[in-house]
Amino acid sequence: MTTAAPLSTESRFLDDLILHGHFLPTGEPGLYGRGMVFEDVRARFDALVTRIHAADRPETPRFPPLIPRRTLEQAGYLNSFPHLCGVVFSFEGGEPAALKLAERAKNGGDWTSLLSATGVALAPAACYPSYPAIAARGPLPPEGVTLDLGGCYVFRHEPSADPARLQMFHQRELVRIGAPDQVAAWRETWMNRARKIFAMAGLEAALAPASDQFFGRTGKLLANSQREQGLKFEALVSIASEQPTAAASFNLHHEHFGSAFGIRRHDGSVAHSSCVGFGLERITLALFRAHGMDPGKWPQSVRRNLWPE
Ligand code: ZN
Repeated sequence: MTTAAPLSTESRFLDDLILHGHFLPTGEPGLYGRGMVFEDVRARFDALVTRIHAADRPETPRFPPLIPRRTLEQAGYLNSFPHLCGVVFSFEGGEPAALKLAERAKNGGDWTSLLSATGVALAPAACYPSYPAIAARGPLPPEGVTLDLGGCYVFRHEPSADPARLQMFHQRELVRIGAPDQVAAWRETWMNRARKIFAMAGLEAALAPASDQFFGRTGKLLANSQREQGLKFEALVSIASEQPTAAASFNLHHEHFGSAFGIRRHDGSVAHSSCVGFGLERITLALFRAHGMDPGKWPQSVRRNLWPE
């Protein structure tokens, strides 16, 4: 007689999500379709962020989830996160190579070596395409620029059995570009607003200093310095794993994107920037974790805030 290994909390939560039709497996870890109830909750949380942000009258441009490879290079992404990036490859060969490709694919062989890189990559962060777009408009107005980029799909190459670690997910990104004090004050405001938003959703979220998952040994130094300078804060919530999971981040970039993309203020100085990102799938998962798999049975206070009309 054999005894099955005990299921981890992550796989139990994933099974529960699949059982209730919230996650539709694709056969690939970290890649799921989502059912309509899940999507309704995600859209409701997204709308709550929109209501809180409305007073700022942000600009609301939208970008596709693909960006030019050049933008990734300029942003310095490949120095820090080569392990997370995803470039789009396609076929540019002639007929003999095409026949070979089809044959290999049919027999389960490796056909990808016959592809070559295109000029585009999957967007790893929703804010990246906004920097070259703002730079192209010329110097900023004295009050700077505030953007709400909506919930854009982003890609991270980190396949995992944890349902809270998806390869592709919606990042609701807000961006402020301007003077150093404008940008720092805006991030502070959003950390307070996020506390309020999470409380309205009935989620316990702890805000803590954090660092990105920079690659390699130099990455460890970068992560330490990021933490020491307080450049990144995360809102941590309980989802599937024993450890709390980051569901939102609040980032100061100083002059990084301003100088990388040539964004100037009205006085000619290099603009500072900050972005705030809400991980919409993670927040939706945290809601199911905290309040149960059936939103109809969630606490009235939470329902009032997410379904206000
Ligand atoms: Zn960002």
